Amino acid sequence: MRPLVFATRNKGKLVELRQLLPGVSVLSVDEAAARLGLEIPEVVEDADTFEGNAVKKAREVSDLTRLPALADDSGLEVDALGGAPGVYSARYAGVSGHDADAANNAKLLAALANVPEAKRTGRFHAVLALCDVHGPLGAGAITAHGVCEGQILDAPRGTGGFGYDPLFLVPELGQTFAELGVGTKGDLSHRARAMRAIEPKLLAYLSRG
Ligand code: IMP
Repeated sequence: MRPLVFATRNKGKLVELRQLLPGVSVLSVDEAAARLGLEIPEVVEDADTFEGNAVKKAREVSDLTRLPALADDSGLEVDALGGAPGVYSARYAGVSGHDADAANNAKLLAALANVPEAKRTGRFHAVLALCDVHGPLGAGAITAHGVCEGQILDAPRGTGGFGYDPLFLVPELGQTFAELGVGTKGDLSHRARAMRAIEPKLLAYLSRG
């Protein structure tokens, strides 16, 4: 089976994607860059849909590495905010790097300060896209979408995960994504659902050689 590059530098996503796809030889973007002696720049995420951004990331990394690449574009849609932060979830507070998660969570809490519990509904979306620009897929893409419904808390809970995890309650379990172990998040998250949907097609494609 050909190796697959995960087209992300988000460490939280990388950990989850590796766990969700055991048995496949996976390289991170940085490992692929080092192995191939390439510079792989950050992909500019300027599409206005999760699918558009996922395909763009997978396509650019696949084109540069000449390997199949799988990208995740994901985000949190909050009903009381008209669907924000949505595709802008990573850059919601305009901060990048290590402080982004804390700044995004603080901005989300402030935006929802006067919103009662019953109206704090939302959901995570993830689109996974597989591209293989120099292989049989050519300019095409294989994509899958996953959703996980939840509730936005008024204070963070839990220490696991990444991003908005401490504020995202899974009502059926009474726990946030940051309180759930990796195993449970890996069963019911938006990313897990998208992976279950794409996995048969992805494995069939990679096995073609
Ligand atoms: P992007 O897909 O690189 O645009 O970034 C997605 C952003 O959405 C992340 O930086 C997080 O802020 C948020 N996000 C996506 N998935 C999750 C998740 O599983 N938990 C918490 N936050 C997430």
